Amino acid sequence: MSEREYQRCTRCVMDTTDKKITFDDKGICDWCNDYNCNILPSWNAIKNNPDALKQMAEEIRKAGEGQKYDCIIGMSGGMDSSYLCYVAKELMGLRPLLYVVETGWNLKVADKNIDCIAKGLKLDLIKDVVDWEEMKDLQRAFLYSQVPYQDFPQDHAIFASLYNYAVKHHIRYVLTGANNATECIRPPMEWVYINDLKFMRDVHKKFGKHPLKRFPTCSMFKYRIIYPIFKGMKRIAPLNMVDYDKNKAKVLLQEKYGWEPYTNKHYEDIFTRFYEGYYLPVKFGYDKRKCYLSNEILNGNISRDDALEQLEQDPYDPAQMEEDKRFIAEKLGMSVEEFDKIIAGEKKTYGDYRNSIGFVKFGIWALRVLGIEKKQFR
Ligand SMILES: [Zn+2]
Repeated sequence: MSEREYQRCTRCVMDTTDKKITFDDKGICDWCNDYNCNILPSWNAIKNNPDALKQMAEEIRKAGEGQKYDCIIGMSGGMDSSYLCYVAKELMGLRPLLYVVETGWNLKVADKNIDCIAKGLKLDLIKDVVDWEEMKDLQRAFLYSQVPYQDFPQDHAIFASLYNYAVKHHIRYVLTGANNATECIRPPMEWVYINDLKFMRDVHKKFGKHPLKRFPTCSMFKYRIIYPIFKGMKRIAPLNMVDYDKNKAKVLLQEKYGWEPYTNKHYEDIFTRFYEGYYLPVKFGYDKRKCYLSNEILNGNISRDDALEQLEQDPYDPAQMEEDKRFIAEKLGMSVEEFDKIIAGEKKTYGDYRNSIGFVKFGIWALRVLGIEKKQFR
């Protein structure tokens, strides 16, 4: 197939590195049009209804009567989850338990942020540590598999631990930092594959060395069907019910709790920093900053020109990158040469492994038809 001619949206900064992007006759991309037609109207309706947050808070408080915690928050120390803790406690009057998953890569600033938010809001916090030998084995397997989605092991461990814990301890309401303000334009599936256990197991079977015995897992079926329908789990996204202005939120968290911002949305851990700032753009030409910045444009936080200027700069400092690469290689028991060889090697995708893409696509289609999922996936 011939390479498609390069094109960039005239409103946001998404471009044809997202292979399935389409443009209308004004050169505006389908992400922007989807945002205007499908997300903005219902989101505005909730945001402009001051009772929505209050009613939700009442429902959660009532359901949690007599229990130590009425909800749980997966806390990373990043801005979304930190601000969510503030919203839950101070604006909704809830009693959340903060849940932290240690995957072995946390930056000190993330740990510090978690502690200052927990202390400042007087919230209980529990930490779960993923078995490092298993984590390491799975991460190595992913690197050898040559796929783009190197954060899958961490993302899955964090996601699965949280939902498994909530259901096991009968905490029905899981509050998530997911929000329209920063996540309407999401990386396409080619860049960041979805939570597919069949795929993860196949990669591990082919390249892993040790069995995964304690590694937390939660399938889409469990998450979408078993937990909500049979266990009563509810997933709530309160940040969509408040006027979530990132700049104001940042100042509030800094002034009230001594929270520290990171240089980029997901750079709260060393592995993610390397993966998003180097591995993904260098090996595959995928730059996730395009999604982050496009969301900021849609929300009016920055201009398109400012976003384009930011994209001109290196995703992260080259000296820091070299240091991170050495650190990661050593921690995963590889040499830097081996690591470089992987990056220079073949480009593979989920299609090269066993996967549940048919089932997943059907599920996404059904959720969109039912109106449960408004955002676009591809
Ligand atoms: Zn666009």
